[in-house]
Amino acid sequence: MEECALCKKKAELKNSHIIPKFVTDWIKKTGPTGFLRDTNNAFRLRVQDGLKVHLLCGECEQLFSKHEKIFAEKIFIPYLKDKMNYHFLIMHNFIQFHF
Ligand SMILES: [Zn+2]
Repeated sequence: MEECALCKKKAELKNSHIIPKFVTDWIKKTGPTGFLRDTNNAFRLRVQDGLKVHLLCGECEQLFSKHEKIFAEKIFIPYLKDKMNYHFLIMHNFIQFHF
């Protein structure tokens, strides 16, 4: 049994993503290669998933997961959509200005 980093209880710890999975999925989806690379490895090998460490107990992992979902749905995804609209608006204005 190890100590949970959040509640400090002794428990069997889960493999917690250091960077939320929805962020690493977005990086893979939008990156030029579609892969993640291990920057700690001298050969920068491809990895399937972001770094995970034994950090939180099941209860705290669920708590983080709940908040990550809300953040993804309410902030991260809407921001990306607005950002895309913002870039589209700039391009639209640029084209109008030059033609
Ligand atoms: Zn905990």
